[in-house]
Amino acid sequence: MTGTLTVLAGPSGVGKGSVVEALRRLHPEIWLSVSVTTRPPRPGETDGVEYHFVDQAEFDRMVADGELLEHDAHLSASYGTPREPVERQLAAGGSALLEIDIEGARQVRASMPDAHLVFLAPPSFDELARRLIGRGTESPERIRERLDRARIEMAAEDEFDAVLVNDEVEAAAHALVALMTTDS
Ligand code: 5GP
Repeated sequence: MTGTLTVLAGPSGVGKGSVVEALRRLHPEIWLSVSVTTRPPRPGETDGVEYHFVDQAEFDRMVADGELLEHDAHLSASYGTPREPVERQLAAGGSALLEIDIEGARQVRASMPDAHLVFLAPPSFDELARRLIGRGTESPERIRERLDRARIEMAAEDEFDAVLVNDEVEAAAHALVALMTTDS
């Protein structure tokens, strides 16, 4: 028997990290993949908990040796999902959750067609724009770049099996758990 793989993805700025943080708190029993990244830890982050922090040489080695299920680069850092722990969890019949970007979700779909892809959507494009513009410290060009990217990312919604609207973080976390435990 093999378990179900659920992938949570969505446009940048939609709040995937917050939903997963709430999920860790509400459902510590859920098995969550720990990605590798080349970006430095932020204050409060612990190696092996939020991420495995590696240098670019180690990341490139993992890619070359086929150790990553999927990988992508953005904002000058690389991110990837270690393959072996996910395969082990699924082989044991358990469920697994990945929180990755849209490109990564596409790669998972290609290599694991049975994966359940969940798109985390903002309540509206205007709301996403408000979150991306944030404190207003960025140049108009940078803001335009972010909005253009967000518009492209929002169009990926149709490629997913389910859409979850991130109106309120805890509600979205509960809805995600419900999706993970419903046969699909
Ligand atoms: P952050 O650096 O803010 O933790 O994450 C930045 C982005 O990287 C988020 O959109 C997050 O979903 C994405 N990300 C985190 N881990 C992975 C991964 O293993 N693979 C891919 N493709 N994206 C990831």
